[in-house]
Amino acid sequence: MAQAYAGHQFGHYSPVLGDGRALLLGEIPATPSTPATPSAFVRETVESPDAFVRETVESPDASVRETVESPDALPSLTDLHLKGSGRTPFSRPGSDGLAALGPMLREVLVSACLHALGVPTSRALAVVATGGQVQRDRSLPGAVLARTAASHLRVGTVQYAAALAAQHEAAGSPERADGLHPETLLTRLVQHALDRHHPHAPRTDVPALDLLRAVARAQAELVAQWMLLGFVHGVMNTDNMTLSGEAIDFGPCAFMEAFDPDTVFSSIDHAGRYAYGNQPAIARWNLARLAEALLPLIDPDQQRAVAAAERVLDEFRVHHTAAWRRGLAAKLGLPAEPVPDDGPAPAEDTSPNASASTGTAATVPDVTTLTDPLFALLAEHRVDWTSFWASLADVAESADATLLPDPLQDWGADWLAHGPDAALLRRTNPVVIARNHLVEEALDAAEAGDLTPFENLLSQVRRPFSPPDGRERYAEPAAPSSGRYVTYC
Ligand code: AMP
Ligand code: MG
Ligand code: MG
Repeated sequence: MAQAYAGHQFGHYSPVLGDGRALLLGEIPATPSTPATPSAFVRETVESPDAFVRETVESPDASVRETVESPDALPSLTDLHLKGSGRTPFSRPGSDGLAALGPMLREVLVSACLHALGVPTSRALAVVATGGQVQRDRSLPGAVLARTAASHLRVGTVQYAAALAAQHEAAGSPERADGLHPETLLTRLVQHALDRHHPHAPRTDVPALDLLRAVARAQAELVAQWMLLGFVHGVMNTDNMTLSGEAIDFGPCAFMEAFDPDTVFSSIDHAGRYAYGNQPAIARWNLARLAEALLPLIDPDQQRAVAAAERVLDEFRVHHTAAWRRGLAAKLGLPAEPVPDDGPAPAEDTSPNASASTGTAATVPDVTTLTDPLFALLAEHRVDWTSFWASLADVAESADATLLPDPLQDWGADWLAHGPDAALLRRTNPVVIARNHLVEEALDAAEAGDLTPFENLLSQVRRPFSPPDGRERYAEPAAPSSGRYVTYC
């Protein structure tokens, strides 16, 4: 099936987007105990913290229900999706529903890279060349991507269900016989998303708030991981933000090289809305759109609903900042700061684009006393993000700050005084990522019929933390002469 969804794209609401070139083939249980027929639907519902019910529906009157129990039973469905398989009812007029080989191979490289780096992400199972051509600004070889994901439920899915419910209400709520009353649809979507993606999330008597909180936490962690890796998603529209907390849709994404919070790669992001340093604020903005869609389920009193949603949204910043600072400590090879009690502590925003630290009382090893001056130096000298961090392990091992570039040596001496752990540095800071110029080179060659550079790069990004020896070419930034890197949707 093709799924309907709405979404804010570059801040503007579009009531109907939907899978214009994608199809959900089905849901695969990780441990199939029922012989699934190709047409079967599987539904999983959490019954208790350690059991869920799996229902395999083979036809309207044939379904198998089983209770799956284990101490850590988790629903375990994986969506199998095709992208580029042709037009659907949600394709806009004039769009062909197809995909070109290059962008689908980019999905493979980027998702493999993020996965190897420990980032939750949709995965690429296969790319199949169609043998046909796709008409873009020029004629390109066509391909279909088989993608797997925890699900394809997005913030935009909830926006769509909420808009249906609102329309229904405005039309005087006629009853529907099929049980898919738009208001119950939104309620069921919330329950389903909680069961499927956040089975261990704390439950209250307001499931919509529980979902908002769980998505906010998952996205706070996800975006912190992007920030730590210098990853720029490029098109953080609400229809590209999952409820599961997995990264999805790798169109104009790219990794920052020279450190600059304003880094933008997408050819259409003129205002820098989705710039590297804006990503936490945009995630928060998207979550506010999710909260709006959920308001009718939070409290019948609009003002109380808004206040409750805002309290949950405030937790996003707390969680994001905690994840970012924890990650920075690890990137510096230092122990994590003591975690403050859960709750709406007024955490500072220490994202690289945040204004200077407000000087709140510092806890013992305050990571920002090292990173504030570091970010200023990295920006001033346009230091490559990934290779800078990767170089720290050797510096720590030899306790020799002169291994760093001149302008960073004083900073390096201060940092060394904290006794960084070289082994922690090596398992935290990747040596190889899917560097932009290498991705481009691999995709260009693939388009011309040579998959060797693609296969080589794929095998390199699958072991990001292995030593650089013998693969220096994959560890180095692009030559300065290669100019600004631009990506296209
Ligand atoms: P994306 O930028 O890939 O997230 O796509 C945004 C929306 O446009 C989604 O609803 C896509 O399914 C749809 N879309 C993108 N490319 C095409 C295409 N070539 N044909 C039809 N629909 C498309
Ligand atoms: Mg998309
Ligand atoms: Mg896309």
